[in-house]
Amino acid sequence: MSLPSLDVDVLVVGGGAAGLTAASRLALNGRSVAVASSATPATALSTGRILLDVDDPAAEEWASFTLAQFRRQGAYYVMSKKPVVAMTNLGTRMRQSITSPLFDWTRTDRNVAVVGFIGNCDLDPDLVAREVGRSRRARPRPYWFSPSYSPELDRDLFVEELGRALMQDVSEETVVLPPMPQRSPYDIMAELRKRSGKNVVEAATPLSWPGRRLQSLLEGVAARLGVTLLKDRRLASIQLDGGEASAAQLSSGGRSQRVDFNALVLATGNVTSGGLAVEGRDIVDPLGIFQVASSPASGIASRHLLSALSSGMVTRDGKAVTRQGSTLRNVIPVGSLVRGMSYPLGRGLGDVVLQAWKAALVAEDAL
Ligand SMILES: Cc1cc2nc3c(=O)[nH]c(=O)nc-3n(C[C@H](O)[C@H](O)[C@H](O)COP(=O)(O)OP(=O)(O)OC[C@H]3O[C@@H](n4cnc5c(N)ncnc54)[C@H](O)[C@@H]3O)c2cc1C
Repeated sequence: MSLPSLDVDVLVVGGGAAGLTAASRLALNGRSVAVASSATPATALSTGRILLDVDDPAAEEWASFTLAQFRRQGAYYVMSKKPVVAMTNLGTRMRQSITSPLFDWTRTDRNVAVVGFIGNCDLDPDLVAREVGRSRRARPRPYWFSPSYSPELDRDLFVEELGRALMQDVSEETVVLPPMPQRSPYDIMAELRKRSGKNVVEAATPLSWPGRRLQSLLEGVAARLGVTLLKDRRLASIQLDGGEASAAQLSSGGRSQRVDFNALVLATGNVTSGGLAVEGRDIVDPLGIFQVASSPASGIASRHLLSALSSGMVTRDGKAVTRQGSTLRNVIPVGSLVRGMSYPLGRGLGDVVLQAWKAALVAEDAL
């Protein structure tokens, strides 16, 4: 069974931070773009904290475009030229350039309460207090709160109860909470601040809401620019004619879909997202077309894991190279799929978005 075929200027495969960034820039420049993606991207599993190379002129350009688009969706972030050292839910530090008043819990805050919700494992206040207390004199104070209401189902009652508890029982000025399970938590946080009179912030937490929110905002940017988002589509094959690609076959369950294009942007992520596959001791492109190699990296004790995580597609002038060594004129790999762009967990978003932002122009040149 077939899904309706499509014909676009650019097909982007992979809808994480890289694919959506490249797609949005191409759509902004008037190109017709479809993004096909098969599963949850690493972007949605991350803490959503972005550290940019602010010396790269693309950083200012990407941030002013993207953050303006985020604001149109009700999310307020700013770019800080000097990285802000924020604390994670484990009490470790994380540098970030894109910040929001919701996340601004930093090492310089002296008077901090960390509030865990019983039954919610995103934030353990005792652990945070212990870890942070090791590295500085003023240890945050742990609190446990047992909400009678759900922030999703009984939003108003939840806010009223928690706001009252924070005002009555917590003496500190800054209060760190587990992430709110909302795509758009900004009004809840603002109301909690108003009711409690405190600087209420969310903990930076991977595998939780902050990453999903970033993903959803990036999808919102692309959708508003007219990008067609094809969910649950796996790239099954690419039609190659001479030195270029002309069409792709996508699969979704038992159905298939043909997409014709003038340029193909590959943003399928690294080995953790399925953009690359393990074959014996090697990391390979699952379609068997492209050249893959690892790049020097450090930070992980296991040699094999390090080699897997630092592997990526080889590029020449920003374009994909086949296993046989020839360059494909209109196939542009972006993001953590590219050699040198894939890192051990916990970093990468900033480099990925800037590389994809610039690579969109390489894709345009190929049209
Ligand atoms: C737990 C965790 C925490 C992290 N925390 C941070 C952090 O705090 N800060 C930071 O900077 N970085 C962090 N990272 C790294 C960061 O998330 C990645 O560098 C970044 O999200 C990669 O973006 P990407 O678009 O290249 O790939 P992804 O976001 O992985 O997107 C790739 C997409 O392509 C899809 N795909 C793969 N194969 C196919 C196919 N054949 N057909 C169709 N679609 C396909 C995948 O399903 C996926 O949706 C973290 C990563 C993880 C896993």
